[in-house]
Amino acid sequence: METELNHMREYYEGGYTKEASWREAQLKGLRSFIIEKQEDIMNALLQDLGKHQVEAFRDEIGTLMKTLNLALKNLKKWMSAKKAELPKIALLTSAEIVPEPFGLVLIISSWNFPFGLSLEPVIGAVAAGNTVVLKPSELSPACSSVLASGLATYLDHKAIKVIQGGPQETQQLLHQRWDKIFFTGSAHVGRIVMSAAVNHLTPVTLELGGKCPAVVDSLSSSWDIEVAVKRIAVGKFGTCAGQACIAIDYVIVEKEYCSKLVELLKVWIKKMFGENPKHTKTISRIVNKHHFFRLKNLLADAKVNESVVYGGSMDEQDLFIEPTILVDPPLEASIMTEEIFGPLLPIITVGKIEDSIKFLRSRPKPLALYVFTKSQTLQRRILSETSSGSLTFNDAILQYAADTLPFGGVGESGFGMYHGKFSFDTFSHHKAIVRRSFLTDFWYRYPPWTLNKLQLLEVSYNYDYLGLLLVVLGLKKPSNRRHF
Ligand code: NAD
Repeated sequence: METELNHMREYYEGGYTKEASWREAQLKGLRSFIIEKQEDIMNALLQDLGKHQVEAFRDEIGTLMKTLNLALKNLKKWMSAKKAELPKIALLTSAEIVPEPFGLVLIISSWNFPFGLSLEPVIGAVAAGNTVVLKPSELSPACSSVLASGLATYLDHKAIKVIQGGPQETQQLLHQRWDKIFFTGSAHVGRIVMSAAVNHLTPVTLELGGKCPAVVDSLSSSWDIEVAVKRIAVGKFGTCAGQACIAIDYVIVEKEYCSKLVELLKVWIKKMFGENPKHTKTISRIVNKHHFFRLKNLLADAKVNESVVYGGSMDEQDLFIEPTILVDPPLEASIMTEEIFGPLLPIITVGKIEDSIKFLRSRPKPLALYVFTKSQTLQRRILSETSSGSLTFNDAILQYAADTLPFGGVGESGFGMYHGKFSFDTFSHHKAIVRRSFLTDFWYRYPPWTLNKLQLLEVSYNYDYLGLLLVVLGLKKPSNRRHF
């Protein structure tokens, strides 16, 4: 592995990946891969996750194509140097910010959106001119294999490699020296990644997860509540069966409004996934037995089980779990302390919807927070009194599809961001460039220090050029209370 990585470093040093033409060719290669291998991609998603092709297109193929087109359209603009202002003391000097690639980067991704979570960062990394090693998840093997053969065929194999494997292979990769590590996964492994990065002071982006809440205010119009319920149902059960970092983990609602919400959720779950969702194939399957039993165990506690008001059926052979609603399971139970990552939806009731703010503040900062309300006051309060990676009013998941918004967490849900131009920036070092002329040279920046030099420095920091000239000519007196 070390030799292979050394070759990649040498290739990077050769400067090929810094050329705009190289970056463009890789982005076009990725686009051809997605277009030409669309069927293989959909089949692999079906095989690994039972993901319906509409979901596959909505969350992976469609979003990736959008990002690729954006990157191809804006590549030269993103790569260009940006002018910057300088202090007055630097007369006749220009400054700019030049994005330069980090070098050799490692991308470790997760299994729930195997193409999106692998290729969105790859797009940013190659657009920024890096050489890349991608380590997809071992839990979605069909997808990882399509990624490995696809990238080897469509991209420059000297600069972009896929290395498959699980924790052991990832640990081996983490022992190597990288110029940037981009990790998507759990906070537990995020900590392992960060401690490995310490050895070489490698910059890290951690895209983690956690429990994403949805606060649902008592909406009075029947249209509003129906739209809210549809968005909640799709934001939980219709997004890889809740196996998504930004899926709604649980709902908070006023006690009086709870039964209305539950009744409507039942109606819409049936409309979306049929009377017997197992047979409609519109809902994804649980990724493997380990996660199936992890989810089953979340319901094993008697008090949690008592709180189930809808669903709860499971089929181990088919890795199927029915969309399930629980009302007020104990807050200290695992279902309310751990990330659920599956189609179980607890609803927590509060006296007044404003009480949700205290609840949210008592828990780790989530990757996404959803609030369904028409109240401007509640919107303002939630915005200013809570913290989360993103905040979406009256919808769920939508923020992920917006390439104009940064995607990333805060606190326990991670740090750093990507998507659209943010991906390019995440994989670039923004180098500060100053170009100085020899013509102007102010005497007051050199010792020996005098009161007059101090005054002039203060003036050049606080005035424009005219003010500075007036002071130098003695036509304006700077205010100065200092004494030597
Ligand atoms: P995970 O942390 O178990 O695995 C992520 C990656 O790390 C995989 O490639 C895996 O091979 C590797 N890995 C696993 N154990 C390791 C170890 N001991 N040492 C080194 N590497 C190891 O996470 P997961 O099961 O793939 O995904 C679920 C978690 O990821 C959830 O918490 C979810 O919220 C989060 N997630 C976040 C995002 C996001 O964009 N923020 C997206 C998807 C998933």
